[in-house]
Amino acid sequence: MKKGKLIVFSAPSGSGKTTIVKYLLEQDELNLEFSISATSRDQRGEEVEGKDYYFLSAKEFKSKIKEDEFLEWEEVYRDNFYGTLKTEVERIWKKGKHVIFDIDVSGGLRIKGKFPDETLAVFVKPPSIDELKIRLKKRKTESSDKINMRIAKASAELATAPLFDVVIENDVLDKALQEAHTRVDEFVNPKKKET
Ligand code: 5GP
Repeated sequence: MKKGKLIVFSAPSGSGKTTIVKYLLEQDELNLEFSISATSRDQRGEEVEGKDYYFLSAKEFKSKIKEDEFLEWEEVYRDNFYGTLKTEVERIWKKGKHVIFDIDVSGGLRIKGKFPDETLAVFVKPPSIDELKIRLKKRKTESSDKINMRIAKASAELATAPLFDVVIENDVLDKALQEAHTRVDEFVNPKKKET
């Protein structure tokens, strides 16, 4: 199997990384496919099993940890496990595509550590913690308790930005999309740069 590349997008929740990842997936010349994570958190209304996530019970998740089936996994919030199955990367590489991940900071850095040469690790930075709070409230997908939990985690995550290959500030979305496109294109299609 020919190895493709790994594009990691990590950021505090609400930074807009999911929007950026979705945009990149629509750009055919990048040849990307989304890495579907496994999670033990509850399925949200609009989410589809096997498209957004593989939804597992905490018991199923723990058993896969024991069987060493994960490339990386994390208890992102208490009792909410998230992880990348090894079979997911193999599935995408077999199709001759590059893998794009929308995962948390520790998971992203773990993938970079395991595949340093194949990985472009991108950190998406929100303009400020206050702006992040506003965005999460607007999204209305989490209770205020959960929002506070995500904000507390965001401050710690922001401190890890210098460990990534690229930091993109998501202040003006169009600008962030263009910058993300350019950086990913340079990484997956390096020959284009020379011509
Ligand atoms: P959400 O519950 O909003 O879908 O995701 C919560 C957090 O978990 C986000 O920061 C998301 O990027 C992260 N996440 C999603 N999948 C994975 C994964 O496979 N591994 C890790 N480490 N984090 C993940």
